[in-house]
Formats: sequence, structure tokens, C-alpha cells
Amino acid sequence: MKPKLLLHGGAGNFDKNTMSSDEYSIRLETMREALKIGYAILERGGNSLDATVETVVHLENSTYFNAGKSGALTWNGVAELDASLMDGATKNAGCVSNVTHIKNPILLAREILNSEHVFLTGFGAEEFALQRGVEFVSQNYFITEENLSDLERVKKANKVILGTVGAVALDIHGQLASSTSTGGIMNKRPGRVGDTPIIGAGTYADSTIGAISATGHGEYFIRSVAAFSIITRMQYLHEDINLATKEVLNQILSMGGTGGIIGITPLGDMTLEYTTPGMQRGFVDENEILVGIFEEME
Ligand code: ASP
Repeated sequence: MKPKLLLHGGAGNFDKNTMSSDEYSIRLETMREALKIGYAILERGGNSLDATVETVVHLENSTYFNAGKSGALTWNGVAELDASLMDGATKNAGCVSNVTHIKNPILLAREILNSEHVFLTGFGAEEFALQRGVEFVSQNYFITEENLSDLERVKKANKVILGTVGAVALDIHGQLASSTSTGGIMNKRPGRVGDTPIIGAGTYADSTIGAISATGHGEYFIRSVAAFSIITRMQYLHEDINLATKEVLNQILSMGGTGGIIGITPLGDMTLEYTTPGMQRGFVDENEILVGIFEEME
């Protein structure tokens, strides 16, 4: 099986006219780096779960993406982070929400996947992280010039800033996986949890059908059970992954929400769809590596 890896770095109100060419290039370059890290794992026969995790870790560590460092802040300026992942081979899943001191929430989600639980939240999740040796950082680590100025902007303009990072992969063994991580929606109420850590909403993987990672206005993605709806449309309506994804994004649009979705099938068919002005996204396979934010990918 030829391996393939897709990522997203969030769908949102990206503006072609105001984004500087430096910022545009850094965002594309960071996505290329993340794809190369994940693809190297797939090329040497590693599994899709590890590839998606390491891809997401690279994006979590960048200040240009809303996850890990520089994740979105609550209205009182705190980073409360969420993540989840699913292994399409075993259907095991790990989910974490509302952690405030974990450098890479996706790594904690993987520890949870390898435990007797599926979902841990807040204080209990951090206590578990301590036992598992997951890296802690102070809350200050997450507070950057970028997210502070975004918080101010959102408060003034009363608009929504979206984000999130995610990856889906097909490995040489034919297995699929999905990982998603986020700071949530900027200026959110403390304690608010979106779709990202919820299996079936922001993340899903079944190696016989597909792997999905979502980004967007989480309340709508939860209510439409977005990721799992795509899987069931493919399974029962026999829609291809792109059509199923468009249908679900259109349903969300008619409910009042926007966002984007990446997905891959066991045959390597893929989707990178969005209903926002842009979505940071890319993919890599044996032939090419392409990334983009607006229509064109390069
Ligand atoms: N889906 C994320 C959430 O609602 C945010 C995003 O993807 O922009 O928490």
C-alpha cells in the first residue's frame, strides 16, 4: 500500500489581502515540515497513528497555529486545550479536554488511548499526564504576542476566530488514523469544549472506511456529529469521501456553522474541503507534497 498523509492547520477567515507574504510563507513552510515529519514515519513502515501524532506535534509547537503553543484563549486569557486521536485499525481512541499545562495535548491523548479510558478532562487528565511522564509547561508558555493580539481583536470586533490542527494518514499496512488538537475558539467561555476532543464530531477513523479530522465552529460539528456522519454516508449511501464531506459541510452551513474537513480512505482517496475563506491544508504522497491556504496549493 502506498502511504499518504494529509493535514489541516485550521479553517477560518484568512484574508489574502491582509496576510503578509512572510506570514504566508512561514505558514506554508511549517505545514511542509510537519508533512515531511509524518511521511518519514510512514515511509519507513511506521503506523498511521504515529505519523498523525508527530505531524500534529509539529503544528502544536508553532505559534502560527491554534493548538498547543499560541492556542486560542478564553475570554479571561487562559489557554484551555483539547485533543483527540483514533486508531482506525483497532478503533481505540484517546481524548483530552480543558488541560492548561500540557505542552502537547495530542501526546497526552495518545497516553489515554493506551489506557483503560477514552476521555479524561481537566485536573484528572493532568494528574494522569504526570503519572505517564507527559511534558508539562507553565500556562505562560501558551501566551504569545499572537494569541494576545487575536484575543483583543476578537473582543473589539466581536467576531469568531477559528483554528485547530489535524492529520489523517494511510500507512503501508493499509491502516488509517486521525489526530486533532486545538485551543478551541478564541474568546471562548472558560470550560467550553468544542468538537475536537469528541470522537465522531471532530475526529474519527475506521480503517475499512475512512479517517476524518475537522476544524470549524465546534458547536455545529458536535450537533451534526460531523466526522462520523461522513463515515456513515460512505458506508450506507456509498458516497465517495469528497461528496460525503461536502454534504456534511453543507448541512453544517445550513445550521449556521462554517469550517473544513480532511479525510482519507483505505484506497488513498482524499478530501480537503472547507466553507470558510481559507483552510491551511496539505498532503504528501510518493509523488508530491502540496500545501495551501486559499484555492491554490503549491
Ligand atoms: N473546532 C474547534 C473548536 O470548536 C475550533 C476550530 O477548529 O476552529 O473548538
